[in-house]
Amino acid sequence: MTIKSVAFIGLGAMGWHMASHLTKVYTDVRVWNRTASKAKEHARVFATQATSLKEAGQADIIFSCLPTSKQVEEIIQEAQPKTGSIWVDCTSGEPQSAQRLQQQLKEQGVTYLDAPVSGQTIGAEKGTLTVMVGGDPNMLEQANPAIQTFAGLIQHVGESGSGFAVKAVNNILMAANLWALAEGMCNLKSQGVELDAALKCINASSGQSNMSHHIFAQRVLSREFPLTFALNLLAKDATIATQLAGTTQTIMPVLQLTQQLYRSASNNLPSESDFSSVVQQLEQWNNLTLQSA
Ligand code: NDP
Repeated sequence: MTIKSVAFIGLGAMGWHMASHLTKVYTDVRVWNRTASKAKEHARVFATQATSLKEAGQADIIFSCLPTSKQVEEIIQEAQPKTGSIWVDCTSGEPQSAQRLQQQLKEQGVTYLDAPVSGQTIGAEKGTLTVMVGGDPNMLEQANPAIQTFAGLIQHVGESGSGFAVKAVNNILMAANLWALAEGMCNLKSQGVELDAALKCINASSGQSNMSHHIFAQRVLSREFPLTFALNLLAKDATIATQLAGTTQTIMPVLQLTQQLYRSASNNLPSESDFSSVVQQLEQWNNLTLQSA
């Protein structure tokens, strides 16, 4: 199939940037967003076309990047994708929903690929996201040039739902990492150790991580906590990972506890909190603040 038209549904923190890269390869790039003014602004800034949801559904490849699988299921009903099209769902969704959607859309001659992304908003902006894909590998090959516009790595990981499973596990690992680092830093602060110096050592030692390099100083020690990835979305990912383990009774005590800690922090903190704000929960319990000198 020659891909002539592509569409992007959901111009949020991630989708806004991801959709912008499609114009590198395609002239017919349709965008739709629940808040229509964002789609109009996207069209103005990136020379995409703000269309109706039905027109977006008539594209050869349709991307979605929405908060959860629930919204994707609703939007697919409304968009009515055309026969022969490929729906590439970049939401961090639920494996069981991917399997349902893959079956349901197959009956309409539409291919569904679960293709969640990692790399945060900066990766979306630079077009260097990691894309983990579940579903028909032959159809992925067809969608590849479009996905490539915003990807650094595209990896097929298995059948429908596998992409979502890998993403959920990746994110609960990130959550555990951040929480463990915050506990360690609370411990050091209580000992009277200077935190910037401690982080410098950790970042040149075996305790280093993506969180220690790119998140802790920039968001926590700076006290900025900029909202780029909502805490409630990370709590959702952690829940998907633990529910998945529940289906096979996989034993993972540390990750189970991580899910509970993030769910509770997400309930306790304001709804518009960045994921890094989870550290504030631990600060409250320890009655201290993790701040640069
Ligand atoms: P945002 O909250 O920034 O954007 C959500 C998007 O979904 C908006 O376009 C919003 O529209 C739309 N939306 C919300 N509810 C509905 C609905 N009921 N019907 C139609 N559209 C709806 O989320 P992100 O871009 O941060 O995240 C999107 C997905 O990507 C999530 O699954 C997240 O877990 C994942 N992700 C996020 C990363 C990040 O760093 N932010 C990194 C990797 C993955 P409106 O503008 O009208 O609100």
